[in-house]
Amino acid sequence: MAGRILIVDNVPTNRIILKVKLSSAFYEVIQAVSGRDALLRAADSQPDIIILDTDLGDMSAHEVCTRLKADPATHHIPVLIATPAGDTEARIAALKAGADEFLAKPIDELTLTARVRALMRARATTDELRRRDETARSFGFAEASVHFATPGKIALVGRCAEDAMTWRAGLRGLVMDNIEIVAADHLLETIAGGNGADIYVISSDIFGNMNGLGLIADIRARQSSRFAGIVVVHGSQDRNEAVMALDLGANDIITRGGDPEELALRLRSQMRRKKEADILRNSVDEGLRLAMIDPLTGLYNRRYALPHLTQISQEATKSGQNFAIMLIDLDRFKTINDTYGHSVGDKVLIEVAKRMRDTLRGIDLVARFGGEEFMVCMPMSTLVEARTAAERLRAAICGTPVAQASDGTPVSVSASIGLAMGGDTNASIEALLQISDRALYDSKAEGRNQVTLGSHAA
Ligand code: GH3
Ligand code: MG
Ligand code: MG
Repeated sequence: MAGRILIVDNVPTNRIILKVKLSSAFYEVIQAVSGRDALLRAADSQPDIIILDTDLGDMSAHEVCTRLKADPATHHIPVLIATPAGDTEARIAALKAGADEFLAKPIDELTLTARVRALMRARATTDELRRRDETARSFGFAEASVHFATPGKIALVGRCAEDAMTWRAGLRGLVMDNIEIVAADHLLETIAGGNGADIYVISSDIFGNMNGLGLIADIRARQSSRFAGIVVVHGSQDRNEAVMALDLGANDIITRGGDPEELALRLRSQMRRKKEADILRNSVDEGLRLAMIDPLTGLYNRRYALPHLTQISQEATKSGQNFAIMLIDLDRFKTINDTYGHSVGDKVLIEVAKRMRDTLRGIDLVARFGGEEFMVCMPMSTLVEARTAAERLRAAICGTPVAQASDGTPVSVSASIGLAMGGDTNASIEALLQISDRALYDSKAEGRNQVTLGSHAA
């Protein structure tokens, strides 16, 4: 299941229309018929996203949103409010009430599903970071999380200097962050120089004919901007491209020429998410790092991974979403050590670890379990997704040489993978590890360099 969405509308036909759209995108849809009903259901069934209509009969969407955001049981759930098209005031009121997004009515299916996917993604990242933080705490490294109210950095990348200057003038007095203007053709240079911003506001005009695919991927590929927020400003003509940008990894899109206050509110909410994620990410301190991280590859070690798996499994039981576990063992690795020496063997392990991290999603956990054996856990994954990821991983490892011998000879390696699915099978972590271990053994027996799905039958 792709995720659970709570629809709140007092008009039955509206609920049905929305439900059909979302169900066809494989979301589980639950419904509430009033504001009061919404508050109860949100706390009870912990949906991944809540969509509110403006007027709910007994309460306004803003009131419901304010209450959801004030309640610790529901404040983490993203809220979308449906507002009348072109009603800037309603949109600003929605954002002020703490809504994460608004949708213009009548709700367009393309925009709806792209927004929902982007919010699901943002949600998955913060959930995973929170989980890692909790695992760290369970190690006995209690960490007081520090909240810095320091201003962030926003980079404006317009189609020309005047463009960005107009945005900056509009934002004056509305945001407390430092704003800088970056010329479109210097953007990647600036980022490569290690001079990253927290948020990039980018005009879609500079995308060229690639619809932003290349640019967004480039921003995400650099160390200094990997976790930055990306907000795309687009003309009303190229809305479809902008919606696509959302799917390619942009965090938000906004129509050009809109109210600066709306832009400011959106930037504020992006900045809050970015800083929250930064704080969680940095809360892993050095001592903790030594206890949990394998020094050779920089991957998590087995000691860290096991309690983390238990947590993922418990959450999967609650949410009804599946997860995957893979055990990965390098093929004939001993021969590499014997032929080229131990230090080349080490280089192979380092490069394989890097390829695994690069191939997987940020929310997937990669750990080194032992010598040349690795474990990957993919939360919120279907069998098809897990299989595709395992194949991609296998291909990434054997695709090109992973190291060079001292005489320059390229050294290649392959890996055998055993895959097990957890979640609706209710199998314990120990059982799942056993299943993937057996599957890994089968991959070896069948000739190595392949993926085998383990079966739950004894
Ligand atoms: P198979 O395809 O059956 O997995 O064969 P294999 O040679 O990979 O398996 P085996 O378990 O016999 O060998 C694993 C080797 O990994 C043996 C050990 O010396 C080596 N190894 C374990 N840890 C490290 C390490 O940190 N660095 C290096 N260079 N080698 C290591
Ligand atoms: Mg081995
Ligand atoms: Mg091996």
